[in-house]
Amino acid sequence: MVEDTKENIGKCICKSCPSKNQCMNDSDKDFLYCAKGKTECEMVKKGCICGACPIHAKYKLKDYYYCTSGNAE
Ligand code: SF4
Ligand code: SF4
Repeated sequence: MVEDTKENIGKCICKSCPSKNQCMNDSDKDFLYCAKGKTECEMVKKGCICGACPIHAKYKLKDYYYCTSGNAE
């Protein structure tokens, strides 16, 4: 399980993701979907960059699009 900490929030690269939209920017300011769970915004998949994220490597995550599928098990 990915911990919802300030340090992990700082490492999340969702802020640079092409799929992230204005609703997500406005309502999901901390991102870190792999810990916090999915967004309530409507979202169109335009690519997921979780694979380039240090949290993805640190916690040996296997999946992508946590913003729509929910937090990592
Ligand atoms: S793995 Fe994805 S959702 Fe999790 S911190 Fe990294 S970019 Fe954000
Ligand atoms: S979980 Fe993946 S698709 Fe969603 S905003 Fe983060 S990097 Fe982008």
